[in-house]
Amino acid sequence: MSHPSPPAPLYIRMHEADNVAIVANDGGLPAGTVFPCGLTLREHVPQGHKVALTAIAAGEAVRRYNVAIGYALQDIAAGSWVHERLLEMPAARGLDDLPLATSKAAPLPPLEGYTFEGYRNPDGSVGTRNILAITTTVQCVAGVVDFAVKRIKAELLPKFPHVDDVVGLEHSYGCGVAIDAPDAVVPIRTLRNISLNPNFGGEVMVVSLGCEKLQPERLLPPGSIPIVDERNVADVGESAEPALDVVCLQDERHVGFMAMIDAIMLTAEEHLERLNARRRETCPASELVVGVQCGGSDAFSGVTANPAVGFATDLLVRAGATVMFSEVTEVRDGIAQLTARATTPEVAQAMIREMAWYDAYLDKGRVDRSANTTPGNKKGGLSNIVEKAMGSIVKSGTAPIAGVLAPGEKLDRKGLIYAATPASDFICGTLQLAAGMNLHVFTTGRGTPYGLAECPVIKVATRSALARRWHDLMDVDAGRIASGEATIEDVGWELFHLMLEVASGRRKTWAEHWQLANALVLFNPAPVT
Ligand code: CA
Repeated sequence: MSHPSPPAPLYIRMHEADNVAIVANDGGLPAGTVFPCGLTLREHVPQGHKVALTAIAAGEAVRRYNVAIGYALQDIAAGSWVHERLLEMPAARGLDDLPLATSKAAPLPPLEGYTFEGYRNPDGSVGTRNILAITTTVQCVAGVVDFAVKRIKAELLPKFPHVDDVVGLEHSYGCGVAIDAPDAVVPIRTLRNISLNPNFGGEVMVVSLGCEKLQPERLLPPGSIPIVDERNVADVGESAEPALDVVCLQDERHVGFMAMIDAIMLTAEEHLERLNARRRETCPASELVVGVQCGGSDAFSGVTANPAVGFATDLLVRAGATVMFSEVTEVRDGIAQLTARATTPEVAQAMIREMAWYDAYLDKGRVDRSANTTPGNKKGGLSNIVEKAMGSIVKSGTAPIAGVLAPGEKLDRKGLIYAATPASDFICGTLQLAAGMNLHVFTTGRGTPYGLAECPVIKVATRSALARRWHDLMDVDAGRIASGEATIEDVGWELFHLMLEVASGRRKTWAEHWQLANALVLFNPAPVT
């Protein structure tokens, strides 16, 4: 029996001007390894970590993605391992004198004929799932809602086979907070807009405690709820206004805990009846609202998974859909290329406004964007936030940037949108849900079992070793790009087709299969009391 020969030593250089490349082979490569180009490793270089392709003098820029990701702190010989201790991080690009909508890229050619089966909503949006969401005004009611949701799932849901799930929108906000502080607008509008997410069919029901600061009328003021049909409208005629369906636990009519549970279940049943009457219909791919983000990144994120997502982003934008990319600290170092890609100077200015707001927010906590990187990022080969950002930003593809959302705002247009959010996976996902996301794409290199109860999450692995080890958690293996088994285009198209299948309910993601769901985590930049 002959043994298969080990794979040839391989490094991946992102741009011809780069003086470092990353080692692609599983397990890294030992000292003395000779690459086909003649470069010899002077020491062991772990997988995903950088090797110097040429001699780099002290003070010289270390370039990856044709960007200075750092400056050499000492002379580095060709074939050396270039790790974060050898690099000084560059200062953040100032926010003055940025190029505003200068790239003037021609619009991408339209992509027609792609559809999915979705649930059309009264407000014109389309859901990919048919879920009853129970909005809560305050954390105090979370235990009660949790109890009620378990009973609804066990006793009511089997009677309504066209409803996918019941979800309590639980959170830590609502009381003990400075609710009139200017920044309180962020968590409040986030909660309001999540209640109106396309996957909830316009059915809004609220569970409130009674004495909390965030009163139901403040969370969902008149005019914020869509008219589903005549049954949720209190008055007829010109003053027709959907009534807000609230179960208030402190109401005198609730005598004992079970009275509260009965009231929640009774209200839920009315909404379940309406949701159950809905059916999927064929919708153009332009109705997809895809949020992309990454978590647990490694040096392959920017080589395999994120470029494949970027290719799929372009396909979606060409099909007329909406794609949001986010994570302020992971795009901050690429701000100049983003403001240049804006469709108008106003969009570029909005992006600068969000970056400046976040710089000030971090400064108030006496940190900067470099607080982003994790020990796992560094172990995975990412030396600093500049290198991480260059790999993260490619998820946005190449389309012009058509709009900007502040944290918690709802989408008002289609196309490629920059939704400003923290990079925290849970907060980013929560804010993208508030914006109106109906499908989530998540790339990971280190591996995370992330999922959301409100929306399907497609997870893309950056390395085949991770995809093999977590074969029942990762939906797409983008590591095949590094090994040469597939191209970025191949994996991008595969992801695009998978998105249509998942959006149509024909395929479940692994997170859905195992019912893995992370908590909603609000971004509250305002004080608590
Ligand atoms: Ca993230």
